[in-house]
Amino acid sequence: SMPKVAIVGRPNVGKSSIFNWLAGRRIAIVDDYEGVTRDRMTTLIEHEGNFFELIDTGGMGVVDSDDLTADVEAQIEVAIATADVILFVVDIRTGLMPLDSLVAERLRSIDRPIVLLANKADHDNLDISAEEFHKLGRGHLICVSAEQKRHRDELMQLIVDRL
Ligand code: GDP
Ligand code: MG
Repeated sequence: SMPKVAIVGRPNVGKSSIFNWLAGRRIAIVDDYEGVTRDRMTTLIEHEGNFFELIDTGGMGVVDSDDLTADVEAQIEVAIATADVILFVVDIRTGLMPLDSLVAERLRSIDRPIVLLANKADHDNLDISAEEFHKLGRGHLICVSAEQKRHRDELMQLIVDRL
């Protein structure tokens, strides 16, 4: 069956933006509507003859949008249940946050390949700041920008190499 790639990470790192960018069209719900339970968002992606299903796990099944830990826990459950490859997203502008470390901790029990995306690297002068994310000890690190569409081909190659 179709390989599955799940996007995980704390709120506001840019998971939905990355989903839309890779999908090439706006599908995921980027805005937050308080109290609204959002559907799992998936789309089929093709890269040089390789196909996979991309899943934006953010906000899935979480009614209380203020409960950030519950959101992260729900994402990890989905990733464990479905993913062949995990895209773990962090924000290069805020730097490493406690919730990023929680995600990394929860991913410890998952023996599937992880790609660590340092998102919001809108210009290459920001890439140096990604070094601190090595502390998470999870995944192959790549700097990307969903907004500036940086390093899409490199990211796609990292994913399909791990399917
Ligand atoms: P999610 O909660 O992880 O799904 O994050 P969103 O995709 O909703 O993005 C959260 C905020 O970060 C939004 O205001 C986005 O416009 C912004 N954002 C996402 N990707 C980038 C990026 O590559 N660069 C910058 N500067 N902002 C971004
Ligand atoms: Mg989102």
